Amino acid sequence: MPTKYLFFTGGVVSSVGKGVTAAAVGRLLKERGFKVAVQKLDPYINVDPGTMSPYQHGEVFVLDDGAETDLDLGHYERFIDVRLNRVCNVTTGQVYAEVIGKERRGDYLGGTIQVIPHITNEIKRRVGLVPRSTGAEIVLVEVGGTVGDIESLPFLEALRQMRSDVGRENTFYIHVTWLPYIGATCELKTKPTQHSVRELRSIGISPDMIVARSDTPIDDSIRDKIALFCDVEKRAVVPMVTTPILLEVPLLLEQAGVGDYLMQRLGLVERTQPNWTGLKQLVDEVRRPKPSVKVALVGKYVELHDAYISVCEALKHAALHLGVELDLQWVHSAEIEKGKGWDTLRAADGVIVPGGFGSRGIEGKIQAAHYARTNKVPYLGLCLGMQAMVIDFARDILDDEGANSTEFDRATQHPVIDLMPDQKDITDLGGTMRLGLYPCKLESGTIAAHAYQVPLVNERHRHRFELNNAYRSLLEANGMCFSGVSPDNRLVEIAELADHPFMLGTQFHPEFLSRPNRPHPLFLAFMKAVCERAGIPIEHYIPVEENAEQV
Ligand code: GLN
Repeated sequence: MPTKYLFFTGGVVSSVGKGVTAAAVGRLLKERGFKVAVQKLDPYINVDPGTMSPYQHGEVFVLDDGAETDLDLGHYERFIDVRLNRVCNVTTGQVYAEVIGKERRGDYLGGTIQVIPHITNEIKRRVGLVPRSTGAEIVLVEVGGTVGDIESLPFLEALRQMRSDVGRENTFYIHVTWLPYIGATCELKTKPTQHSVRELRSIGISPDMIVARSDTPIDDSIRDKIALFCDVEKRAVVPMVTTPILLEVPLLLEQAGVGDYLMQRLGLVERTQPNWTGLKQLVDEVRRPKPSVKVALVGKYVELHDAYISVCEALKHAALHLGVELDLQWVHSAEIEKGKGWDTLRAADGVIVPGGFGSRGIEGKIQAAHYARTNKVPYLGLCLGMQAMVIDFARDILDDEGANSTEFDRATQHPVIDLMPDQKDITDLGGTMRLGLYPCKLESGTIAAHAYQVPLVNERHRHRFELNNAYRSLLEANGMCFSGVSPDNRLVEIAELADHPFMLGTQFHPEFLSRPNRPHPLFLAFMKAVCERAGIPIEHYIPVEENAEQV
């Protein structure tokens, strides 16, 4: 079968869930037996989001191959249960860097380099790499931003050209728009949608489907109106009312007939009957009233929840499988330093300290680790959260408040967290960390080994600093256990405390591999410990789906 391409564009405003829609459509196709991959085209000029502030961009999602990508790739992986690679996120910066590199090498033989065709050809080449590198039969491509942005024009032009390059019957354009609600007249407005479709048409793309997002129910007359004014079949106007349960989006799209319509329009016959039993069970479980457990997330970007989206999702996956409601409490680590936020921290039955960079708020994180350790509160440290836990422990046994990571105090007497020798000469910030999958060998009899139930795992990394091997034996002698190490034993991957119900830190980021149907084993183990502390018996356990992809 020729590769089929589905292109997603956004209209009216951003942040209406274009990424979630694309991910959910991918799931509809996977359920029908097709191999699916998703690519995000980001119009900004940064080469990748790796060097961008989380305040600007939210979380940086890391893939197996170490690509630092847009957080939408997390939605794609979680919804479709796939593992993507670095060709699945393209930015304007990457496209221009490639073209300018070729120009400098003389590859264009003296030609004048222009947006059309050189930039657009490079974009099309990169779209074409997706089926080749992933084996996907259907490729979903999402363009970041909204139609009308200057930056996204070359991407839209490239996707327009693809219709004739790969054949009309192999492409399908989905436009995701927003219907504003006017309170004074109690009605939804379609005019902005009409305008954005007109804008899209003016650059040569006629949408085949319009997903109309809204916060209030969309009645049939609105669908008729959009169909008429935007020249799409009524069946292809998909009303999508905001749902607080993201997991439900594929089910809503299925109900709206999107899967069957796509089969028909792409000339495909479904290979398998979609099986929604598992997803429905999870959605029902979300709705069921459940006892709630408080977990405090101590971070420094807590004002922007998107900065920790995979951590939140992973916690929710685990809570859902254990039949409890996650009551996530956001605690600013810089406030902790000023003596604020402690009541929230103390009221929680679990503490999670996620990843981070730079010294702001680090002492607050170390204090949170100290609190969890001395009060025997379940603690999960992710990357920087593991380093904070080690620093606190080292300060205690060395009786030296100066023990630190050289990231925060270059001159510390006790650099318990330090750069590896091969990182010391690196000066560039972009793409130079330890990134992507690395193996981790588990020490039997530990909390980590018990959680994973396998001797070796592969986890995704994104960090520069490591636990300093010079302190390993001292830390071990005092009750810290290195339950996960690299197979050559050079790097500590997991640290845990023996004399504690659950105090565990990982140098990697387990949150990136958690799935709704397959919560990450360490998140599950952490949340079990949280339930235990909260005195909540686990009565509704949903078994984790078996899948060899996990490790
Ligand atoms: N800043 C720390 C390091 O580079 C931790 C990174 C992280 O938490 N992702 O090692």
